[in-house]
Amino acid sequence: MLAADITLPCTMRPAVNHGERRGGAPVDMLVLHYTGMPDEEGALRWLTCRESGVSCHYFVHEDGRIAQLVPEALRAWHAGISHWRGHDDINSRSIGVEIANPGHEHGYRPFAEPQMQSVIALCADIAARHAIAPRNLVAHSDIAPGRKRDPGELFDWPMLHEHGLGHWVAPAPIDTAAGPEPDLSGGTLKLLQEKLAAYGYGIVLCGEYDRSTREALVAFQRHFRPARVDGVADTSTIVTLERLLAALPAL
Ligand SMILES: [Zn+2]
Repeated sequence: MLAADITLPCTMRPAVNHGERRGGAPVDMLVLHYTGMPDEEGALRWLTCRESGVSCHYFVHEDGRIAQLVPEALRAWHAGISHWRGHDDINSRSIGVEIANPGHEHGYRPFAEPQMQSVIALCADIAARHAIAPRNLVAHSDIAPGRKRDPGELFDWPMLHEHGLGHWVAPAPIDTAAGPEPDLSGGTLKLLQEKLAAYGYGIVLCGEYDRSTREALVAFQRHFRPARVDGVADTSTIVTLERLLAALPAL
């Protein structure tokens, strides 16, 4: 690694784990993670050593410093078993950014202001050089529901959107009155599953409220309706999903 791919100030911390991108697809996704480890230097060591079996392209410290670990031309090992919009080998078509935060297991906390400013600058730099559609700037939890929770419900997606990054609509309000539950009988649940799949989630279109449906709903809420992350297909969740689909650019 000779030079950083970005024009922002950044240090080079080469990772051992990487390979050639496969399949010939262009880089068209950007995946955001949190490190989920108690301290950030330990996380950086983990992401650069062979034993971990993982890596990422960029690492954003809590104070906003950025490190590049893997050249963008190469395939970093950050997504694992994952799925988005019909694709499975997400590592081959994405840039992976790890954001230092202890995560749900070690004291999840809001992302610091200088860190968010760097994440925004980094995402803008990457998105300007690759064909990354707003809908393809995703959370790790979006592409691996049930397996991953990062970067989590405290991540400020609306702030990214204010800077022209990612896809976002105002979530439909949660009805706190004990109104009737949405009717998910008959083909209604299948229709909801089809909408989640149409947005990009890997989900089985079985017509039943099965585990994969619950996990996809939790992932969806974590990203798009973070005020309540419970996997319940309430009206707010369904309407928010419909608003997002309606807001997609026509292809
Ligand atoms: Zn992750």
